[in-house]
Amino acid sequence: MEKINLGISSCLLGETVRYDGGHKLDRFLTDTLGQYVQYVPICPEVECGLPVPRESMRLEGDPGSPRLVTSRTKQDMTDRMVRWAEKRVVEIEEEDLCGFIFKSDSPSSGMERVRVTNEKGMPVKKGIGMFARIFMEHFPLLPVEDEGRLHDPALRENFIERIFTLKRWREVMTKKESRGNVVDFHTKHKLLILSHSPKHYQTMGKLVAQAKDLPLKEFYWRYQKLLMESLKLNVTPKKNANVLQHMMGYFKEQLSADEKTELLEVIEAYQKGYVPFIVPITLIQHYVRKYDQPYLKQQVYLSPHPLELQLRNHV
Ligand code: SF4
Repeated sequence: MEKINLGISSCLLGETVRYDGGHKLDRFLTDTLGQYVQYVPICPEVECGLPVPRESMRLEGDPGSPRLVTSRTKQDMTDRMVRWAEKRVVEIEEEDLCGFIFKSDSPSSGMERVRVTNEKGMPVKKGIGMFARIFMEHFPLLPVEDEGRLHDPALRENFIERIFTLKRWREVMTKKESRGNVVDFHTKHKLLILSHSPKHYQTMGKLVAQAKDLPLKEFYWRYQKLLMESLKLNVTPKKNANVLQHMMGYFKEQLSADEKTELLEVIEAYQKGYVPFIVPITLIQHYVRKYDQPYLKQQVYLSPHPLELQLRNHV
């Protein structure tokens, strides 16, 4: 797979663009995830024409539509930032991004819970950074996260799974449009979708079955929307355990009673939080390989992202 194009707040790559001339280098993003992605760095404050160093800024007023104001001299930068951001998001369409990693807590780049100072001078953590808001409104289906949330192993796994899946989907979209290509993609991603949302799994199954009754463009659009919505829902040990038991059903004939008991015990230990997901999935992978199970061996669920990222190693 080619590298995945990912937007990122520039300061997270170590670029010295912050108001105080510093940066917020995140080593996981540069050294680990950076091996698989091509970053497109964006610093809204510098790109909209502000110098480094500069006066710090904050959001003020109504958390639903705050103003971007310098902290000490109270210069209102809202119109300048909005004008630049609305133009920039249109240019970004050319970058073929599969997601964006924002800098948390920033009045320009934070994607949630950014401090907004109300009329009484009290901060409430209910805002969205000005550029982040315009970006997310322009690209509503694109996976987004901030570096703070990515320290949570479950959120990290979810985000990375989504960007890898979107990249695979984009590869389908570069091929000649055909219902068959979507059906093939769907077949390989069925269990991955099931692990996120049994409801979407059913809805998408019906959509694929009705594909020939829909105009091709509408079919692609509806499929993509459901795909990204489903993957946004977090996987839980319970959902994963259901998928693992479903997979086990494919080996009814081959596994001995003892092997079935062992597999069920490992799945239960995972569901109770005693062992990480890598344990049951490795055992299932072993049986898929040993018995060359044709349906399961094509499932992306077995390996949705590189093993080196160690995303399935946490309890
Ligand atoms: S948080 Fe955003 S605006 Fe602030 S320095 Fe980083 S990239 Fe620039």
